[in-house]
Amino acid sequence: MNLPEKFGENVFNDSVQKETLPSEVYKALRATIEAGNRLDVSIAGAVASAMKKWAVSKGATHYTHWFQPLTGLTAEKHDSFIEPEGDKVIMRLTGKSLIVGESDASSFPSGGSRATYMARGYTAWDPTSPAFVRGGTLYIPTVFVSYTGDTLDKKSPLLRSMTAVDKQAKRILKLFGIECKKVSTTVGPEQEYFLISEEEYYKRKDLRLTGRTLFGAPASRGQELEDHYFGAIKPKVAEFMRDLDEQLWSYGVLSKTKHNEVAPAQHEMAPVFTTANVAVDTNMLTMEIMRNVAKKHGLVCLLHEKPFEGINGSGKHNNWSMSTDKGLNLLNPGANPESNTLFKLVLAAVIKAVDDYQGILRASVASAGNDHRLGANEAPPAIISVYLGDQLGALVDSIVKDKNYTAGKVVQASIGVPESPIFPKDATDRNRTSPFAFTGNKFEFRMLGSQANVADANICLNTIVADAFEQFANELEGAADIEKAANKVISRELKAHSRIIFNHDGYGPEWEPEAARRGLLNNKNTADAVPLFYEDKNVDVFVHQGVFTRSEAIARADIRLENYIKIINIEALTMLEMVKRDIIPSVSDYVAELCRNVASKQAVSGSIPCDSEKDVIAKLAELNDKTYKAAQQLESHLKAIDKDDVKPASQSMAHVIIPDMERVRALVDGMETLTSSDFWPYPTYFDLLYSVK
Ligand code: ADP
Ligand code: MG
Repeated sequence: MNLPEKFGENVFNDSVQKETLPSEVYKALRATIEAGNRLDVSIAGAVASAMKKWAVSKGATHYTHWFQPLTGLTAEKHDSFIEPEGDKVIMRLTGKSLIVGESDASSFPSGGSRATYMARGYTAWDPTSPAFVRGGTLYIPTVFVSYTGDTLDKKSPLLRSMTAVDKQAKRILKLFGIECKKVSTTVGPEQEYFLISEEEYYKRKDLRLTGRTLFGAPASRGQELEDHYFGAIKPKVAEFMRDLDEQLWSYGVLSKTKHNEVAPAQHEMAPVFTTANVAVDTNMLTMEIMRNVAKKHGLVCLLHEKPFEGINGSGKHNNWSMSTDKGLNLLNPGANPESNTLFKLVLAAVIKAVDDYQGILRASVASAGNDHRLGANEAPPAIISVYLGDQLGALVDSIVKDKNYTAGKVVQASIGVPESPIFPKDATDRNRTSPFAFTGNKFEFRMLGSQANVADANICLNTIVADAFEQFANELEGAADIEKAANKVISRELKAHSRIIFNHDGYGPEWEPEAARRGLLNNKNTADAVPLFYEDKNVDVFVHQGVFTRSEAIARADIRLENYIKIINIEALTMLEMVKRDIIPSVSDYVAELCRNVASKQAVSGSIPCDSEKDVIAKLAELNDKTYKAAQQLESHLKAIDKDDVKPASQSMAHVIIPDMERVRALVDGMETLTSSDFWPYPTYFDLLYSVK
């Protein structure tokens, strides 16, 4: 394969645009993409026609406005290019059909922000993310808004939040005499996933209906040997990865690294970062392609945050920064961060933003699936804190304590092999336990769930950082001595927000009480985290930055809770179905079989020993009854919840239903270890985790 040639072959990217568009049109389009100029509608016809011609040459017969409704997934409705002409058809895409589409909005969640009678929703072209051809269809990335102008998707607020950063960051840069056309937020999301065999997957109702196992005793071997992380990749997985990369590259996704993760059957793909908007779109596409490619290989790609209990779950590390169109990375500390006032000011803004809005930042990654990671002694904890590493940590510490800072020399570490070149020690050693870590020239927000649309976290991050920039710019514009004035702000803000900085082990038992002493939030589940979105201060920041209207902000919090309630409800119902129809009957059958065995032994002679059967019979019969009762309790609690009243319903899900489900699960997992594998109705963790060759 000729990689450079194949790369982006399915994308209507910059070079294709340059090749196929009249030069005036090309320039106008690039001005919109690169400098954020308003789209010149008069060019739409020419772009549409070139796009269609290119798409048809790639085998496309249809086009679709591709959007990201609040379901968290992507949506598409395909229209063909054909238009009748006499008794023939021609292929056409008009400027109007490129720019807007109409879509029935009534079946997408809107959190009450759109009365049902106003079912009209519009999709509008987002020229900043390139169109692509996939499976005979031209995909046009779009935003999705209602008839009344309310946003109904994740992309429009993301774009608005990027505009907010652009506007306020340029004011900050200007203070230091730096002019630029545009400041973009950049994102590189590292995607974790599990691969299991399709055959085993289809035997598990829980995986099929909920994406995770609701039962399963641990396999005799989990991740304790730590031999899977970066281990040799199995041939079948390697084939999958090769195929995946080829597909991703053809869509212009910069898939860069791939490796085995910590848990058995767990893997990761990291792309090279790009602008936040494109990163979001390509991550959505990546997840879809992962699922499809897996199918082709007889595998299933599990993107759930916690498919298996007892071994690591999957997340998505959101590497985030900001840079100018000239390539200046605002989070690059340079060789001497202590005298880099612009960097220190940007750093102070991020630290202030994360401290002031820790509640919504945590809430922006809250979901039923992710609750199994955050706050469950795994991945990052549910407490937001910022990790700066040794060098930067010492610098910030010296500012907070008004001490002199002596720049630590870059340590020349040698790896002890004479042939090997000496390399400088990484200034930010890798603290894997921090939820928000500075890693060289970017922050890595590690709380995101593996199946999340990364738009949510980035909307929040962009908004709160833009707000901090705005406050700093308001204060500093017009200062006589900018260095002096800025350093005063830096010192004041770092002192005010130093509680959010934590450079130690986030999994350690000391951290929770210490964080509580510092007054940091620790919301362990979605039901407790999301209500922060309703607080005035938190709504205000979105409204003030022009990202959400008040009603949009409230609607989105409602949808998050609604979604949480629906997921737990489906999980509980699936659990009940499995227990009542498969597990209890199977165990009962096995007990009956054991009883028959005892009876036949005793028919031969009363002296044949059958203690083992009798012991298992007694244990299983008791556990089966307990399971039945626990399931009944779960069922009656579930029925009693008014699922339309989102706040109390989500509380009941978190604090009544989930504990009920945990009780049922513990009983069932106990029975699994006592029941003959011939009778157990589902593949076990061993079957699921060690089935791929
Ligand atoms: P690792 O964390 O494994 O050392 P890197 O630090 O090179 O790897 O990058 C991890 C991820 O961060 C990659 O997706 C990379 O593209 C992304 N990244 C690097 N620089 C930036 C940046 N300025 N903005 C956003 N993401 C970035
Ligand atoms: Mg990482």
